[in-house]
Amino acid sequence: MLSIVLIAPPAAGKGTQANLLSVEYNIPHISTGDILREASHEETERGSYIKREMELGNLVDNNLIFELLEERLKEKDCKNGYILDGFPRNVEQAEQYDLLLEKMNNKLDYVFLLDVDKDIAKKRILGRLNCRKCGKVYNEFIKEAMPKEVNHCDVCNSILTKRNDDNVETFEERFKTYIEKTKPLIDYYTTKHILYHVNSGISKENTFEQIKNTIGSLL
Ligand code: AMP
Repeated sequence: MLSIVLIAPPAAGKGTQANLLSVEYNIPHISTGDILREASHEETERGSYIKREMELGNLVDNNLIFELLEERLKEKDCKNGYILDGFPRNVEQAEQYDLLLEKMNNKLDYVFLLDVDKDIAKKRILGRLNCRKCGKVYNEFIKEAMPKEVNHCDVCNSILTKRNDDNVETFEERFKTYIEKTKPLIDYYTTKHILYHVNSGISKENTFEQIKNTIGSLL
């Protein structure tokens, strides 16, 4: 069982690293942002609530996110481990998660904190383009990450789209939320001796090497 949590400000590359880790260690990538985006399409009160909070850059209610996550973790593919991308987002969620791990007789192995400069994060967010079909992510402002053909996916040729929350106002709000709510998790996991700092401002390959080296040296 290998269980990993990624903590990071918006656009530090959590999703990208989680995908790479998922392939490397053959365990699922669970993104609470993706679970919520999916649930936000429901034409229900819950769906509209989630959509609104995400667009404002706020955190969605702890109990709601926990319910959705617990359901996902009970699926068969999680039995050898998983990578959590975007959860926990505050100390209450981390405490609730610890109780769940205890109940499931599991433990959390690694928490990686991906550090990135705010200006780099902003550029990544504002230029981000996603392929809804195959999940590949591009950036219209970063040369190495541009699609070959404007607005089309290199892999499946689908039209690229922007996330609703990838705009300046929501970025500023999400960054503020990160500093106020998520940063306290650094102390929480440092005390438990499972937090590892990773510089995520160079390249995705470099970030991945740092993570793999840490896991490799501790396995
Ligand atoms: P992400 O895809 O991780 O950047 O998350 C996008 C948005 O989904 C966040 O700005 C929050 O509004 C919401 N979200 C994702 N994960 C959580 C969580 N663990 N708790 C509360 N809200 C979350």
